Amino acid sequence: MTKLLYQTDSYLKLFEARVSAIDAENRGVALDQSAFYPGGGGQPADSGSLAIAGVTTPVKRAKKAGNEVFHYLEGDSPLPEVGASVMGQIDWERRYKLMRTHTAMHILCGVIFRDYGASVTGGDMDPLEGRMDFEFETMHHELVDQIQLAVNQEIANARVIRVAILPREEAFKIPDLIRTKINLLPEGISQVRTVEIVGLDLQADGGTHVNNTAEVGKVRVVDYKSKGKINKRIYIAVED
Ligand SMILES: [Zn+2]
Repeated sequence: MTKLLYQTDSYLKLFEARVSAIDAENRGVALDQSAFYPGGGGQPADSGSLAIAGVTTPVKRAKKAGNEVFHYLEGDSPLPEVGASVMGQIDWERRYKLMRTHTAMHILCGVIFRDYGASVTGGDMDPLEGRMDFEFETMHHELVDQIQLAVNQEIANARVIRVAILPREEAFKIPDLIRTKINLLPEGISQVRTVEIVGLDLQADGGTHVNNTAEVGKVRVVDYKSKGKINKRIYIAVED
């Protein structure tokens, strides 16, 4: 089982670990702990590198298989033995852009629910670009500027972002989490990680975010599309 270091420290770039399993066919290396985000919830997986016995090999991407995070190596260097110690490093420039983008999407959700009562149904992102789907029948062109203004106001408000890991039963008592479809979590999950933009948004979430909305930068609402009468997809860009 890989300990997910990014869940408690999303700013961790470099870490030591031990090899816990090998997928030789796909050049996958599972580690006992990792700062690599393995993808999920709309946030793409991290890339980076592993240093094994003094040789640094690029990691194309990380991916979860069961309870293990595998790190898929490029090239054809020899794979390490189980038990070997390695030094991992994530591509921080890309990850930090994803953290800013992911946080911008939470701000968007928070603002749209607060100001229009519309719930989010899904989302997807690339570094500095995000798209989110809402049940938002009253969305129309004139709201684009209002939403953009409100999102950037919350960035200027420098709201603190807090992460907590709660027992399932405790998380189920939080009304805001029930609203975001926490009840869809699989039976076997005994703990729920929550990400709170204090005073704005609270979600069950496994991704990486910045510590303060001020780090996001500037958000532009680029476009929106109707996906039927009720469902609207909103596109954002994050800028410096
Ligand atoms: Zn999220």
